[in-house]
Amino acid sequence: MHVSEIFKNNEKWVTDKLSLSPDYFKNLARDQSPEFLYIGCSDSRVTAEELMGIEPGQAFIHRNIANMVISIDLNALSVIHYAVTYLNVKQIVICGHYNCGGVKAAMQADDLGILNPWLRNIRDVYRLHREELNGITEEQLRYDRLVELNVQEQCINVIKTADVQKAIRQRGLTIHGWVFDIRSGRLIDLKIDFRKILENIMEIYRL
Ligand SMILES: [Zn+2]
Repeated sequence: MHVSEIFKNNEKWVTDKLSLSPDYFKNLARDQSPEFLYIGCSDSRVTAEELMGIEPGQAFIHRNIANMVISIDLNALSVIHYAVTYLNVKQIVICGHYNCGGVKAAMQADDLGILNPWLRNIRDVYRLHREELNGITEEQLRYDRLVELNVQEQCINVIKTADVQKAIRQRGLTIHGWVFDIRSGRLIDLKIDFRKILENIMEIYRL
């Protein structure tokens, strides 16, 4: 695909938006007050807005390899801080996806250079849930389950931050763990029981 195609596409997109609402870009330029903070994977097949059916302005978005929230990652933490404290998002979504290359790589015993410290965090998720995962004999199912458990652990990592704890207490900020099933196109709500998880861990992580 030549980049000139992209600019042609962009012209068409502008025309389409303006035909629906002549003030579309005037309104877009004014301000943002997104309802969602979406943290997802960089995978090219998993687009945030498209799969959620939302428009520009509705979600503040952060994507990295395997939708990780790592305690010393200034990038992710800055995004969370800004979204929660300044944009006052009402809901945070961590969205993983099946067939995630980052999760797959973490399941293999390979030296992947600069990716090692990043993937180590997924290996830590495996260690935390080793009993359950090792009990799954079929590799694809074990891989799927690790994708789900990784989403769950990243949700917990979000809750470990002081900004999020404060917003949960003060204004009922909610956290959701989802998986995008790339094989069917469907979003799956993991319906993580945060109350139960928090009961067990807040004595350690409360700020
Ligand atoms: Zn991925």
